[in-house]
Amino acid sequence: MTLTSADVLSSLENKYEDARETGDLIFFPSEQIVKHEEDGIQYEIRVCTALKNKASVTTANNEVTESKKPNPFAPPYNEKLYIGDMYDAEEDLYYAVLLNKFSVVPHHFLLVTKEFRPQTSPLLPSELYMTYSLLLAARKQGKNYLAFYNCGPQSGASQPHKHVQFIDAEDGIPPIERLARTTQLEVADRPFSLRRLSYANHVRRLPDLSLASPTEVADKISMAYVSLLDLVISTIRYDPTYPSGPPSYNMVLTLEHMHLIPRRWEEYTMPESGKKQNVNALGFAGMLLVKSDEELEAVKKETVSKILHGVGVESVHDIEVAGTSLEAAEDE
Ligand code: AMP
Repeated sequence: MTLTSADVLSSLENKYEDARETGDLIFFPSEQIVKHEEDGIQYEIRVCTALKNKASVTTANNEVTESKKPNPFAPPYNEKLYIGDMYDAEEDLYYAVLLNKFSVVPHHFLLVTKEFRPQTSPLLPSELYMTYSLLLAARKQGKNYLAFYNCGPQSGASQPHKHVQFIDAEDGIPPIERLARTTQLEVADRPFSLRRLSYANHVRRLPDLSLASPTEVADKISMAYVSLLDLVISTIRYDPTYPSGPPSYNMVLTLEHMHLIPRRWEEYTMPESGKKQNVNALGFAGMLLVKSDEELEAVKKETVSKILHGVGVESVHDIEVAGTSLEAAEDE
């Protein structure tokens, strides 16, 4: 039996509690979430010292070495983490929904393709439709979820099997989403850029699709995605030193906006300590994660804007829109 998006959202909390109790899901509690303001943007920096022990926890759980690791997103799934399968009847495609085994945010879950597809590949209309339908089902149940996709070798992804992730933003609005919502647009259905950010970013405002058919949702979201992906590729092409291989970018999706952020590097090297700060889509949503108070202070000192600029790509928005109707299309 397959589950609807509403079924997934309704069974999530009980499954999560159960998996935590049995120890199949490991929760890493955070000490605090620090609000940190830069350039008028309220970033959120989560301090989770428990993550320092993640390596020993995974070893204690008999996780095998990197090279021999089985694919956790291929069946057979861990029954405690497996919420169920979803089916896209329009495209005849199956998905599995799994709880994140190593959760920093409660109820973090993943939509994974049933058949192996690479994490370096663009999202298909069916995958975008499923993602949107899960966000919509969450909203209908009074929950506020955020979806993200780390695509490509420099995006911060750790698993090669295609997966879109979902976290509960509770009653918060992710910092870049807040910025997008306060941006006045002359033309709503065109890509725009959040100029206050220090790096290239491409955003589309989404229409209300709560009453739209699956085909209409898939079409509208895919059109937005393809237009942003075009801009990601175009931005990368302006950088002659961009690493070879497939393009890397992060997607952050809410019911209101799709954000695509091209990525140049996976990690930022702190100049003073030489320590690496890993950044994924959540970092670009304005929600960063550090493993100690020392790292928190180092991030604040270095500035979030500099770190994100360092692992992102230089904006060429002005060149991209020059002479087109996109010029000055937005006004914060
Ligand atoms: P990423 O690092 O962006 O590729 O996301 C992969 C996510 O999958 C991470 O948040 C991991 O915590 C999570 N993960 C790793 N192993 C498993 C597993 N066996 N079952 C479920 N989730 C997992």
